[in-house]
Amino acid sequence: MSGLDEKLRDVHEEVLRRNPGESEFHQAVYEVLDCLGPVVAKHPQYADAAVIRRLCEPERQIIFRVPWIDDDGQVQINRGFRIEFNSALGPYKGGLRFHPTVYQGIVKFLGFEQIFKNALTGLPIGGGKGGSDFDPKGRSEGEVMRFCQAFMTELYRHIGEYTDVPAGDTGVGGREIGYLFGQYKRITNRYESGVLTGKGLGWGGSQVRTEATGYGTAYFTEEILRSKGESFDGKRVVVSGSGNVAIYAVEKVHELGGTVVACSDSSGRVHDDKGIDLDLLKEVKLTRRGRLTEYAERRDGARYDEAGNVWEVPCDIALPCATQNELNGHDAAVLVRNGCEIVAEGANMPCTPEAVRLFAEAGVVFAPGKAANAGGVATSALEMQQNASRDSWTFEHTEERLAHIMRGIHDRCLETAEEYGTPGNYAMGANIAGFTQVADAMLALGVI
Ligand code: NDP
Repeated sequence: MSGLDEKLRDVHEEVLRRNPGESEFHQAVYEVLDCLGPVVAKHPQYADAAVIRRLCEPERQIIFRVPWIDDDGQVQINRGFRIEFNSALGPYKGGLRFHPTVYQGIVKFLGFEQIFKNALTGLPIGGGKGGSDFDPKGRSEGEVMRFCQAFMTELYRHIGEYTDVPAGDTGVGGREIGYLFGQYKRITNRYESGVLTGKGLGWGGSQVRTEATGYGTAYFTEEILRSKGESFDGKRVVVSGSGNVAIYAVEKVHELGGTVVACSDSSGRVHDDKGIDLDLLKEVKLTRRGRLTEYAERRDGARYDEAGNVWEVPCDIALPCATQNELNGHDAAVLVRNGCEIVAEGANMPCTPEAVRLFAEAGVVFAPGKAANAGGVATSALEMQQNASRDSWTFEHTEERLAHIMRGIHDRCLETAEEYGTPGNYAMGANIAGFTQVADAMLALGVI
């Protein structure tokens, strides 16, 4: 951790000192600072105006108690978070995560990443993130609803269409957004569609929002292939996870001509050499909220392996779509040995720094999540546009906008990497392009 330029090293040390124990946040900050050496050399004004130091300190951090009553009549207490990280480009925008591992360090890492991701979309949105250590798994519908209502009973006073616009993330899908929106509407007596994104299609939601992150990752990967003069045709693809991002990544990869031969959940992996049966996967995971064991039981030739690591299945392209730090140095070495050529992150920060280093050494193209998974938030911003104009676009029109945005992000990453002397390095391109856009806005807005 000492390869940073001197000015950036000071910033990093300050982040470590001021945010003890928040290892994921430290990692996310380091990854960005590690790319900014050539930027501070070329543009000393960013360091002089303390833009980078200011960027590392959230504008506002909200932590609150969420008390609710379970089906046995017992009072349960969870902790809620909203980190409003940076609003130089627009209202804070970023999802809510409900998962037992959520704590301040996770929400801050996600919020920090979100700043640069949102900038890369070219849309007017700032960066934020939130969530709770509530675990929806095994909870009844009534419990999930009561939890969401309790969560919104505090959160409502901090959000608004011009202030902060949350959306879904792990553990927060259409069902939870519905309960959250319902409670916001009840408390405020306002039908303010633009306060949340990921809403249902019948009440202010956008076409393609559900599919957008996975589709966007597949589109980004297609652009990488195109830049190498290739396509998805004949490519074997491995996707980790089997949640929202993973399922729609599988769908779009298949539509674009690739074959997804394995996916996973937190209990194990399924290997299906004929190609994942998407209808069955959706039925098991989306309709029934079941486990992958059921997929393997119902599908001829598919193998479920409880101890199995999804990255051991040989592939040309790997799309980690589950969670942070799920692909480590060992996994990266296995992928390289098996001939994997491209890794594009559908999840946020799924590859450890060591894995990223190994990919670089081996010449594997690596696309970071803040670029490759930006399709979700981009489509959320399109939902905000439709809400603001009381309009609703067709699936085809919205998907075309998404594909156009993903192509734009891809090209911007490549052009920026080239401009700063690291051609083909998507991580450099994404971090520098995202950073300079936010930093220029911060300079223009003064010290606030
Ligand atoms: P979901 O909750 O819908 O799905 C997460 C999936 O990952 C589940 O299948 C889960 O399995 C699996 N999983 C969790 N931990 C592990 C693990 N250690 N190993 C293998 N599988 C695991 O979440 P999303 O699909 O919404 O989000 C996935 C990632 O994408 C997160 O990093 C999120 O921040 C990021 N992201 C999501 C966006 C969105 O629009 N939803 C936008 C941009 C990024 P199980 O069911 O067993 O828990």
